[in-house]
Amino acid sequence: MQIDLRGVSFTYGRGTQQEKQALKQLDLHVPAGTLAAVIGPTGSGKSTLVQLIGGLLRPETGTIRVGETEVNERSPSLSSLRRHVGIVFQYPEHQLFADTVENDIAYGPRNRGVPEEEIRDRVRRAMHWVGLPESLSDRSPFQLSGGQMRRVAIAGVLAMFPQVLILDEPTAGLDPAGREALLQQVDRLRRERRMTVLLVSHSMEEVARYAEHIFVLHQGRCVLQGPPADVFADEGRLRGWGLDIPEITALIHRLNRKLAPPLPLDCFTAEV
Ligand code: ADP
Repeated sequence: MQIDLRGVSFTYGRGTQQEKQALKQLDLHVPAGTLAAVIGPTGSGKSTLVQLIGGLLRPETGTIRVGETEVNERSPSLSSLRRHVGIVFQYPEHQLFADTVENDIAYGPRNRGVPEEEIRDRVRRAMHWVGLPESLSDRSPFQLSGGQMRRVAIAGVLAMFPQVLILDEPTAGLDPAGREALLQQVDRLRRERRMTVLLVSHSMEEVARYAEHIFVLHQGRCVLQGPPADVFADEGRLRGWGLDIPEITALIHRLNRKLAPPLPLDCFTAEV
């Protein structure tokens, strides 16, 4: 499903002393099946953007379209967006709560009234997608490693079969191998299911490797966008906007190098 934002603005605390316009007349288009990234310094509006696309905030002006669903400031409900969009927030493992891995992943579909038999199938598939072995189904999520807990949390979002997946700093706190494995899996799943993925990340390296298109936010506006090689070629402006661009030359060099094919799925379960 494609994502389309036209003239979207959002202000926190309108009419109060804390009034803050977080997004200003934002236009953004992500074609269906694309992995796009959003980068920008703290306070640039990334998290507001995520919540607007996910139907958690209402736009103050403009329209947000996900597939055929469109909302604007007058829409009676934003739930139509929530049906299509899955959001993995930062440190999603902090939200785990159920007694078993299976029940945790099943929570969303069960809440939505999906029949029990289908739920079991969805849980099994979601665990496979994130590289969790079925043998962990009956374990308490709290007995797992940090990386496994994060996978359980992501599987819970995937079990809702979202057509748009938003990942807000999904690899924060993971070791380099865990980061790589997670992003490779997301990328493969996107191709298999033709999901549209929006990745919010502070890691320029990650974004350079996985995104097909990058949006740079600064003070609530999209100030630059394009394929990674073009965006990172604008090093001076990126630094001016407060982005931490490490070894940009090496990054572009790597971008231009043919990347290794993804690892086979089995190798991601090695940590179990
Ligand atoms: P980012 O995710 O890029 O750090 P945010 O979308 O969180 O940016 O914030 C954009 C702007 O909106 C910032 O100036 C921030 O201080 C402000 N903001 C974010 N959340 C709130 C809130 N709940 N109330 C008031 N202002 C907020």
